[in-house]
Amino acid sequence: MTPRIVEVRRDLLRKNDLLAHQLRSRFAAAGVTVVNLVSGPGAGKTALLEATLAALHPGRRVAALVGDLATDNDARRLGRSGAPVRQITTGTVCHLDAEMVAAALDDWDLGALDLLFIENVGNLVCPASFDLGESLRVVLFSVTEGEDKPLKYPTIFNGADLAVLTKLDLAEAVEFDRAAAYRNVQAVRPGLEIVEVSAKRGTGLDGWLARFSARISA
Ligand code: MG
Ligand code: ZN
Repeated sequence: MTPRIVEVRRDLLRKNDLLAHQLRSRFAAAGVTVVNLVSGPGAGKTALLEATLAALHPGRRVAALVGDLATDNDARRLGRSGAPVRQITTGTVCHLDAEMVAAALDDWDLGALDLLFIENVGNLVCPASFDLGESLRVVLFSVTEGEDKPLKYPTIFNGADLAVLTKLDLAEAVEFDRAAAYRNVQAVRPGLEIVEVSAKRGTGLDGWLARFSARISA
């Protein structure tokens, strides 16, 4: 039985990779930079995105796609920024795939956007395997999750282009060991850059937004 399951999974990923490749070409043709935010549940993706959209909209042409198993709470939260926001409700599927993203973008004029953020379903496992055609994959982890998250979920850290350490305002309260966290990130992905933020306090946002300034300066 096992080989058959492996085969089905491989086909699924192959199909996803093809679709992601098409999406990536579409994004490039439209001149839109796409950022895929991945993390465990509750790491602060929505809070960071809320602060990001508030800082960029309406000066920059920015939008967001939000994936969740159920509820459109996050999309409604992000919609308050005034930026275009769309929800993808996945039901029982614990990650976004390229097909869902393509369907959600079907009637969107990508040419009207410079920057599109995709908030993936909160899950540190399978979002690592599903390319969404993004330009940049960002893994978030919060000081409240424990310093060993990178060691426990190396694949998602390994596939990321940037790490964001969130909820810095709580670091002292949870006796966060910053040096250990950095060591663990470097152990699984040497050279991965880490940006520290507190979306609640607004600290570190300039450093985070600076990652995109080159891409949206036109
Ligand atoms: Mg969220
Ligand atoms: Zn999944």
